[in-house]
Amino acid sequence: MISIPVSEPHLDGNEEKYVLDCIKSGWISSNGKYVELFEEKFAEYCNSKYAISVTNGTVALHLALKSIGIKEGDEIIIPNFTMAATAFAIRYLGAIPVFVDVKSDTWNIDTKQIQRKISKKTKAILYVSIFGSPCDMEQLWILSKEHSIKLIEDAAESHGAEYKNEKVGSLADVTTFSFYSNKNLTTGEGGMVVTNDKKISNNCRYFKNMCFKLNGPRDYIHNDLGYNYRMSNIHAAIGLAQVEKANYYRELRIKIGERYMKNLSGIDGVILQKHLNNTLPVYWVNGLIIEEKDFGKDRKEVIKILKNNGVDTRLFFQGMNKQPFLNSLNQEKSSYPVTDYLSKKGFYLPSHSKLSFENIDKICEIIINCKKT
Ligand SMILES: *Cc1c(COP(=O)(O)O)cnc(C)c1O
Repeated sequence: MISIPVSEPHLDGNEEKYVLDCIKSGWISSNGKYVELFEEKFAEYCNSKYAISVTNGTVALHLALKSIGIKEGDEIIIPNFTMAATAFAIRYLGAIPVFVDVKSDTWNIDTKQIQRKISKKTKAILYVSIFGSPCDMEQLWILSKEHSIKLIEDAAESHGAEYKNEKVGSLADVTTFSFYSNKNLTTGEGGMVVTNDKKISNNCRYFKNMCFKLNGPRDYIHNDLGYNYRMSNIHAAIGLAQVEKANYYRELRIKIGERYMKNLSGIDGVILQKHLNNTLPVYWVNGLIIEEKDFGKDRKEVIKILKNNGVDTRLFFQGMNKQPFLNSLNQEKSSYPVTDYLSKKGFYLPSHSKLSFENIDKICEIIINCKKT
């Protein structure tokens, strides 16, 4: 029987060589050449000026929010359908996440619903390019300009994605990435903040390193509350090797995503994520919705059949409106029908870049066959 995991890191280049170099040379803390090299290469890959490495994607979000001056009581608009880290980071600062439902086709924030959630306290829109699919930037840029609010992109799932030939990382005021082991590029654990704004970049460098003064000799006087979010040279060594082959990994993800699309489109009761025309999605995961009334089986049954055939799957995220850690915030009572629908019926298939076409075809065949039986 086959056994196909949902995710597997793909370490196909200089990872081992660079990590061994760290160990042999003794440069294993955040001091070391790989940190700077990784940051430079990653900024370049995002077509952006500055990249600031951190320990994971969650603190990257925290640092990004901190760097634009978000404070207690500020409101930040987020898609209701996202990973909890998006909302955690806002709460670390005592700010308030305000949810907006997502669109039923792209599964990304519904920009038409943002306007009515903007208040005097709104400081930013923190949107997520979900599963690697870029958002409707035209609308987000208009809203940002009209209301003088910042745009932050949580691009944890979309390294190398593009909107109108512009790279994710260069679209918002500040963008964050995760390099967790299941992400499109990985350092095991890791993250990055990317921006074109020198002040934001300096703030990130300041806060991530305990608020040591950026210039001048160390006097051990700390004017603000700092954090230690420094990425180690070992993680950065893996990251540099990854970004050297970023286009190769991206190409594989895209080919895999397109193969799934081709195999699974047009099946009654199977609904796939749609991408905006002018975007290049990078297929972090390949998700699908099972519509029981058309498919003849529900999500649970399909997942079980896949499991019995050695195919691993994961359920979709639950909405932020359903999270107990946010209960005390007394959000305006809104309903989020699209998020509810996605959380109830969605799951994703093995999606890592080492996946063979042969296995993708097998997975799709299992799904198609279970409709028949
Ligand atoms: C993975 C992920 C994060 C968190 O990244 P970590 O590196 O695991 O902390 C944040 N937001 C989204 C949308 C993610 O998918």
